[in-house]
Amino acid sequence: YESETSKWCTPVEPHVGYKKVLVTGGAGFIGSHVAEYLLQRGDDVVIIDEMNDYYDVRIKESNLANLQLKYQDEKRLKIYRGDICDENLMLQIFEEERPEWVCHMAARAGVRPSIQDPYVYIHSNIKGTTHLMELSARFGVKNFVFASSSSVYGGSKSTFFSEDEVVDNPVSPYAASKKACELLAYTYHHLYQLNVTGLRFFTVYGPRGRPDMAPFKFIDRISRGVEIQQFGDGSSSRDYTYISDIVDGVVRAIDRPYPYQIFNLGKGSGTSLKDFIDMVQKYTEKQAIVRVMPDQPGDVPYTCCSPYKAEHLLGYKSKVTFEEGIRRTVSWYKDAYDKHDIDVCPETQANGLGRAP
Ligand code: NAD
Repeated sequence: YESETSKWCTPVEPHVGYKKVLVTGGAGFIGSHVAEYLLQRGDDVVIIDEMNDYYDVRIKESNLANLQLKYQDEKRLKIYRGDICDENLMLQIFEEERPEWVCHMAARAGVRPSIQDPYVYIHSNIKGTTHLMELSARFGVKNFVFASSSSVYGGSKSTFFSEDEVVDNPVSPYAASKKACELLAYTYHHLYQLNVTGLRFFTVYGPRGRPDMAPFKFIDRISRGVEIQQFGDGSSSRDYTYISDIVDGVVRAIDRPYPYQIFNLGKGSGTSLKDFIDMVQKYTEKQAIVRVMPDQPGDVPYTCCSPYKAEHLLGYKSKVTFEEGIRRTVSWYKDAYDKHDIDVCPETQANGLGRAP
């Protein structure tokens, strides 16, 4: 990565041996996939999750149950339920578990709800992250990796976001809370030499994906012949990133500590909403019923990731094409749907639209 010459480019020491990793938000979409990967390769995982009801808690329970079924007997998985802001609980976890690696995925996610209720975002995302960094510095954690978001680029006019060239302008409380985490990360690196890496994820989708996000909603609704809402004219574009690529990037960041770094993690090419809907129609073999709605405040029209920095400094490379990712996600959806693993889509219930028999 040639444009960056600072001392932060030098990895502290790549680490490939056994680790005990504290995964916050490990019952959620991305956290549960990362936890599963770490357990699969032989690491110990300690999960903390408050199991909040931002979306149906049964999905999080099922994510945990899936991990427990596979790994609880090996005593390499420990699960705590609680708020990362709970000082007593977190101190107890650090004292008892002594994790040397932290993968901080817990956060209140979602752009639009953060405009309605900013305080919950300040609590979980800013206060929670500060609290974890405090403990990590105090307990000598070797590497602190946390989830930031492409939303920090906000209203930037650029169409190709790179970490060191594009000025970020968060335009929602959620985005601002993630930017605040990045700033705090620098502070903790500066004050306590905590190795800390922030990862700006670009719209992540895949099996067990969040039901509040467009990929899940579209697949669910189009499959069932329920109307979908298209905000804007369909030209808005996102860099949709398949979950296994994100897990790969997160694990690379865990294994390769830097004193302080921020990386984009995305696919590196955008897909328009219209093309997205077409692809879901292809793999569900259903015709979408589309209602066109005005653009939403706080939404960003284009997000496309420049993945070069992560490619050069982490060896990250997105592997799953958009078509392949949608094919796999629809196939998972059909499986889970048939087995009644997922039986909820919160909006659908709120609208009184029952699931098709
Ligand atoms: P998720 O909501 O599925 O997972 C987050 C988990 O954190 C949930 O299980 C929740 O219960 C837990 N949590 C929230 N606040 C907590 C608290 N105070 N204490 C303990 N647990 C708490 O979301 P996700 O999609 O898996 O996102 C994981 C991370 O990635 C988040 O930080 C999110 O902001 C970030 N991110 C996600 C995307 C995406 O496309 N999914 C994009 C950019 C950034």
